[in-house]
Amino acid sequence: MKLTFMGTGASEGIPAFRCLCPVCSEAREKGGRHIRQNASLHLQSERGINVLIDMPPQIKMMLEKYSLSDTALDIILFTHYHIDHTGGIFHLLESMANNGHVPTGKPLKVYMPDDCYRTAMEGMYAGQPDMGRSDYREFYSLEVLRSLEKLSPGTLKVLALDTNHLAGHPAVPYKRECHGYLFTEKGRSAAYMVDSSAELPPATVEALLNQKLDCLIYECTFDRYPGKGRGHSDHEGVLGIRDLLRPERMIITHISHRNFSHDRLSSFMEKHGIETAWDGMKIEV
Ligand SMILES: [Zn+2]
Ligand SMILES: [Zn+2]
Ligand SMILES: [Zn+2]
Repeated sequence: MKLTFMGTGASEGIPAFRCLCPVCSEAREKGGRHIRQNASLHLQSERGINVLIDMPPQIKMMLEKYSLSDTALDIILFTHYHIDHTGGIFHLLESMANNGHVPTGKPLKVYMPDDCYRTAMEGMYAGQPDMGRSDYREFYSLEVLRSLEKLSPGTLKVLALDTNHLAGHPAVPYKRECHGYLFTEKGRSAAYMVDSSAELPPATVEALLNQKLDCLIYECTFDRYPGKGRGHSDHEGVLGIRDLLRPERMIITHISHRNFSHDRLSSFMEKHGIETAWDGMKIEV
């Protein structure tokens, strides 16, 4: 499996808009790996199946930048509805529809939690007579799957895993979901867990412990995030997850400006045997 980190930032990105904090100032000065756009990952299986996880607002330019704009996307997975993960949906789907992205006429396979569809797909144009469709599936030729069985083409297997990012909100009557994804192919495995918080639900831990984990990509949004069950992970949370799951290789992503700067964060994490992702980083699992 070939993985490209198209973005590695949390929702504000680095530098954050109009922010003059030391991390954002250093990023403006140094550029390069200090700059982070919203988190998104591209995965190519050994047989050439292309998977995109999340569509941040900058998704079109990201695919251009990393020379993936000519790559036909086979599967799109969403973790959850927050804007840094879904803000580019219509922008990219519109372009793909206009450019005949699916020349065979086969719909594009998409998997997302129910509340993600309701919020990100139906919600945006609600009430607009020209765009206020209740269902975008036909318009964009999407096959929105409710089961991941069909999403395991060839030798690639995909498993959705629940996280605690959106757990329990008294004002919301339905279950809000955020998924991580576990990919396995020919005995190799990689998990992508963003907005997954510092504590995972027991079933997710069990699924991840159930097999040899070659690569674990995990969110490290903040340096310090006091209080449990608050939806994001910090340094301590990442080290706890590493100790719990013992992956062969661990890489952090979804990094906020309310964290160390890239240089400081990478040398801190390196001491613990953990790598720090940067926009454009490519790895093979
Ligand atoms: Zn996020
Ligand atoms: Zn800042
Ligand atoms: Zn989120």
